[in-house]
Amino acid sequence: MNSQGYVDTCVFCKVAKGLVRADIVYEREGVVAFKDIHPQAPVHVLVIPAQHITALWEVDETHTVLLSRLLLACNEVAQQMGIAESGYRVVTNAGPDAGQSVDHLHFHVLGGRKLSWPPG
Ligand code: 5GP
Ligand code: ZN
Repeated sequence: MNSQGYVDTCVFCKVAKGLVRADIVYEREGVVAFKDIHPQAPVHVLVIPAQHITALWEVDETHTVLLSRLLLACNEVAQQMGIAESGYRVVTNAGPDAGQSVDHLHFHVLGGRKLSWPPG
């Protein structure tokens, strides 16, 4: 990681920097949200920190403000995408057992259909 918190092999770092094209729906105060390339629901947006953090297990007290901004962004995205009233789910996969496939912290915001529970 360089001093700007950027990892040059990380696709989500590249999205945050504008080096990889993405359908960005929200960008504010170190948080970026964009549509998932393989949507699992009518609304499927990924909310990420612009700085590289591998997964939720990597955060600590120094990230308190950033974490609140990420969750506030999830809320904002849900309203913007019209699923705040119908309901939505915010999910983060952390590590292999959860099936995390991109090692840059991200929150999935899913909605627009009935979501089953529990997840697999
Ligand atoms: P994970 O499996 O790590 O929880 O979620 C990673 C998500 O990132 C997947 O839903 C996948 O479809 C999405 N994804 C992977 N690469 C890209 C990309 O280059 N652009 C976008 N928009 N989404 C991506
Ligand atoms: Zn990254």
